[in-house]
Amino acid sequence: MQDIILLKQGEIVLKGLNKRYFEQKLIQNVRRRLAPLGKYEVTCLQSTLYAEPLDDGADMDAAVEAMTKIFGVASVVRAAGCEKTPEAMAAKAIEYMRGAMLEAESFKVETKRADKSFPMTSIQISQYVGGELAEAYPDTRVDVHDPALTVHVEVREARAYIHGTPIPGAGGLPVGTGGTAVTLLSGGIDSPVSTWMIAKRGVHMIPVHFFSFPYTSELARQKVLDLAKVLTAWCGRMTVEVVPFTHIQTEIRDKCPEEYFTLIMRRFMMRIAQGVADRNGAKALVTGENLGQVASQTMEALGCTEAVTRLPVLRPLIGFDKEDIVRLSRKIGTFELSTLPYEDCCTVFTPRHPRTKPRVDAVEEAEAVLDVDGLVREALDGIERVRIEMGEEV
Ligand code: ATP
Ligand code: MG
Repeated sequence: MQDIILLKQGEIVLKGLNKRYFEQKLIQNVRRRLAPLGKYEVTCLQSTLYAEPLDDGADMDAAVEAMTKIFGVASVVRAAGCEKTPEAMAAKAIEYMRGAMLEAESFKVETKRADKSFPMTSIQISQYVGGELAEAYPDTRVDVHDPALTVHVEVREARAYIHGTPIPGAGGLPVGTGGTAVTLLSGGIDSPVSTWMIAKRGVHMIPVHFFSFPYTSELARQKVLDLAKVLTAWCGRMTVEVVPFTHIQTEIRDKCPEEYFTLIMRRFMMRIAQGVADRNGAKALVTGENLGQVASQTMEALGCTEAVTRLPVLRPLIGFDKEDIVRLSRKIGTFELSTLPYEDCCTVFTPRHPRTKPRVDAVEEAEAVLDVDGLVREALDGIERVRIEMGEEV
């Protein structure tokens, strides 16, 4: 009999009346993520999702790996199926748990019955299977209070399942339950991590990238799309909006005081991101900004940047140290790509002496020479949309 994958729900179990809504979204996300990996049936019972492969060809290792990246899942474990008889359960436990039993000093068996009509109680099943395991592995002692290994038996409608210790899931809430946000995605280390963190809270993400061809190369654009591909494994499908940004940058360079270049540019980013948000019903902007990291990320500079938007600006990395951000970026799988050495539009026309304590009125005055509305409209009209689905551009 085939193995299945069990997924325990995380924070959703704390939800009240709308728990069902969160659960349905999670099931939908799991189905969508498994679809390219084979035929699976996904069902939900008592805060556990069961993903059962319907054909022998399904790549279970790839499926388990994919399931550890689904927000809303607290833990993931692969379980072996067997017939629903005490003998079959014990035999399967002896075979399937062999490696772990040989390694562990002590163990216990824990049983859950979804099928309440099964003729043995959970305790009786645990005692029986535990006895058989103890006989098969005499060097591993039984310890019901503090075992090194817990062997799980689940008796379901059609068959029974055996599994060991689950691996941690991605946590958070199912993507799609928390609305939509626009995330400003550069090619750097920070913004893929901030995107991931807000997606983890159940938010569907629309990445916006500002592209300054020819000052930033085609490679820089491709790098951002590649980052988005890595992120889809966690965030689900996304449409990247690539904004032509060159005209705005040359206008700023030609007409504004150098010390305000970066700030004025960042204010344009916010206005355009807000435009994208309005078109898509998104209710917040997300950036990878981090207090004090660079001149444009002092409190005064952040204040000048966000003054042009009425949407909340979410900055999940605001208080992180760089090494914490790097650690997360490695875990997410974006670090290698992020550290490829292509220019970002922020590094083009960087002022030699940027203002670190800018005032909003001074920035407003500095940008007053520009046709702000016209430039924003032109950028919004020139957007290129690239749809990314499960790691592929489509
Ligand atoms: P990152 O590593 O995310 O690039 P950073 O520390 O380099 O961040 P900045 O370059 O000042 O910081 O950018 C701050 C934030 O502005 C980024 O985290 C990102 O959210 C957004 N941003 C910067 N450049 C771009 C861009 N070309 N396209 C989209 N968003 C951008
Ligand atoms: Mg950057």
